[in-house]
Amino acid sequence: MATFSTRFLGCKVSFADAQAIRERLLGDGHTELRTGGEIQILNTCCVTHEAVSKSRQAAARAARSARAVYVTGCASRLEGTFAHAAENVVVTSRTGDDAAQFVAADVGAIGCVSAEHKLDRWRAFVRIQDGCSFSCAFCVIPQVRGATRSRTAAAVLSEIRRRVEQGHREIVLTGVNLGCFRDRGAGYTLARLVREAGALPGVERLRLSSIEVNHVDDELALALRETPTVAPHLHVPLQSGDDGVLRAMGRRYTAAAFARRLERLGGTHLTTDVIVGFPAEDEAAFERTMRFVEAVGMTKVHVFPYSPRPGTRTEADDPIPVAVKRERSARLRALSEELCRRRWAGRVGSTDRVLLDRPGKGYADDYTPWLVDGAEGTFVTARAIGLSDEGVLAVAA
Ligand code: SF4
Repeated sequence: MATFSTRFLGCKVSFADAQAIRERLLGDGHTELRTGGEIQILNTCCVTHEAVSKSRQAAARAARSARAVYVTGCASRLEGTFAHAAENVVVTSRTGDDAAQFVAADVGAIGCVSAEHKLDRWRAFVRIQDGCSFSCAFCVIPQVRGATRSRTAAAVLSEIRRRVEQGHREIVLTGVNLGCFRDRGAGYTLARLVREAGALPGVERLRLSSIEVNHVDDELALALRETPTVAPHLHVPLQSGDDGVLRAMGRRYTAAAFARRLERLGGTHLTTDVIVGFPAEDEAAFERTMRFVEAVGMTKVHVFPYSPRPGTRTEADDPIPVAVKRERSARLRALSEELCRRRWAGRVGSTDRVLLDRPGKGYADDYTPWLVDGAEGTFVTARAIGLSDEGVLAVAA
């Protein structure tokens, strides 16, 4: 038996990958530690230059205390990224279930362990799809995760049943490009999967992790609205609110088309990603993005300062000075904070259901953060009475 710990960098897909490895090692009878251990798993990210640097640093740090470090996930597939890693670092260049299988086989099972292990999160990230067949000019993800492919609906629904049995209170459907999910053989679109996943016995709350706006069609909007367990929140990457920048990015929509598609979502709370300092972005284009984010009613913006990624169409293009990117990023983050506070203020006086993922703090159905007394892992029906820097202040209703 070995002691191990798992760490991930990046998005919810990376979390789901790390979770799959962790579960395999627990199933094989190894002992999990919060940090450190003989075996250390690092599921990496390469979405920006900074993410790659952090992944490298984390691998070097882990190599100092571990017998073996397994580097998996997106950055492990980017050629040369870990070329100078220490000798005890094993770079697997695998993602998802393949990575879990490889690591488990390499570490070795101790056998005869069949118990189900409950992972320590109340929210379970269930991967339904991997890869992306779009070709946005800046994005390295299709290179490292390959073309889109889906799990079968039966496998997804069976994993959700298992997560519910393990005590997970919220299910998050996750993928690199979620809207590409299809199970043609069994006749499933994402909309049908949402309806059936949300209706499974024991599912208390269902979310989508992130969805491209081109996939927000009437069928999906209806499924989200008509499935009572679906949380009224969507993360829809915008990347820019300027048509010239969107065209240069190869994003396949205009700002007006983006806004039109969101109209069918009614009162759904919207959050987004924006890339700042893309080569085609001048000051006027950035200003248009700021105005668009506000006009379309989004709140939290994940701001990514642009950095060229190897093998992409814009790999040699980075004309915007770092200081300008930094200044625009700070302005957009400040706007995002202001928009969050406005939404929180609008919730005062209302009630919502909060899943406490730590004592006294959690997320309401609309994914706003609430502070309310209660035990970790419970749903509390709460009434909002004020605001704090961390979110909505509430009392049990
Ligand atoms: S949709 Fe575009 S940005 Fe998103 S993973 Fe695919 S190529 Fe990358």
